[in-house]
Amino acid sequence: MKPILVFVEITAGAPRRASLEALGAARATGAETVAVFCGDASAAAACNGAQKAIALGGDSSSPDALASALADAVKNNDCGGFIAAATSAGRDLAPRVAAHLDAVLFSDCTGLEASGDQLTARRPWLAGKVIADLVSSADVFCATTRLNIFTPSEDTGPDSCDAAAITAEPKARVTSLEAKTSARLDVQEAPVVISGGRGLGDKEQFKLLEDLSTAFGNAAVGASRAVVDAGWRPHSEQVGQTGKTVSPQLYFAVGISGAIQHLAGMRTSAVIVAINKDAEAPIFKVADYGIVGDALEILPVLTKAIQAVKAEA
Ligand SMILES: Cc1cc2nc3c(=O)[nH]c(=O)nc-3n(C[C@H](O)[C@H](O)[C@H](O)COP(=O)(O)OP(=O)(O)OC[C@H]3O[C@@H](n4cnc5c(N)ncnc54)[C@H](O)[C@@H]3O)c2cc1C
Repeated sequence: MKPILVFVEITAGAPRRASLEALGAARATGAETVAVFCGDASAAAACNGAQKAIALGGDSSSPDALASALADAVKNNDCGGFIAAATSAGRDLAPRVAAHLDAVLFSDCTGLEASGDQLTARRPWLAGKVIADLVSSADVFCATTRLNIFTPSEDTGPDSCDAAAITAEPKARVTSLEAKTSARLDVQEAPVVISGGRGLGDKEQFKLLEDLSTAFGNAAVGASRAVVDAGWRPHSEQVGQTGKTVSPQLYFAVGISGAIQHLAGMRTSAVIVAINKDAEAPIFKVADYGIVGDALEILPVLTKAIQAVKAEA
């Protein structure tokens, strides 16, 4: 099988967890795995599972110029696949790379398998109602991997690193960047996501979710669209078809009815806990554990219980 090139996002000098998962997905197919990233070559050794690494020099702020360099790297290394994690950057870059390569893109994959030289992508369709297996007849197989699904490789990255440059003239250039500071984890990165819906009653009650999230220590607060539309929470927290797709180890749906558009963003979570006062709410159909009752009474009790467990540990 031809090598697979994986775009690795580097934060504070190290690969993001989502990129390590994408590397793990590529490596598990048995193909030679090539990590490509922007910046200093020293990050190569941390690209677990990669047998080869390429550091791209030059201005990486323009996605169109970066995509052109990634497509060149695919061609120059005779790769049969290109993979990026389905992060905001990956979702932006991967379709551009696929267009350069005249390939199709399988986005947000939850499975990747090799059979001989053929790669097959598995991904949820129709808001997760069906699971599709897809193969590509293009020369290069392009995919993005859903976060928190694939396991990073236990092998370290390569000792050496090749260099390449971003040379294309960007069509758009970033002139300034302002980073938002938030003490809370992003819903797509956190292993535990605690989402609230209209059933919480008002904006202030989200404090109960924040308290539970603090008790866990590794949790993010999410929201249904109804809540975001009402202006109770920012869009960056919205889970669902028109929000973010999450796949944490543990997902809480609190006061959320379970509309299909919400399920589309969270039904691949490993364990789902639903809290709803309506025993017939559709969310219970996808929940592994359900609590029927008033969330405003249940949440403080749950928070105390988690605090007690953490204190014992
Ligand atoms: C094109 C399109 C895209 C969409 N995209 C998204 C999306 O990305 N994400 C998304 O979430 N939605 C999305 N929606 C909206 C979706 O259809 C639902 O309207 C929305 O998810 C409902 O939000 P909710 O569950 O918070 O509110 P509701 O449907 O009003 O449900 C509230 C729930 O809270 C329960 N409840 C009430 N009080 C309490 C209490 N005290 N304790 C416990 N439970 C209580 C109720 O029993 C009910 O089940 C989209 C819709 C469309 C048409």
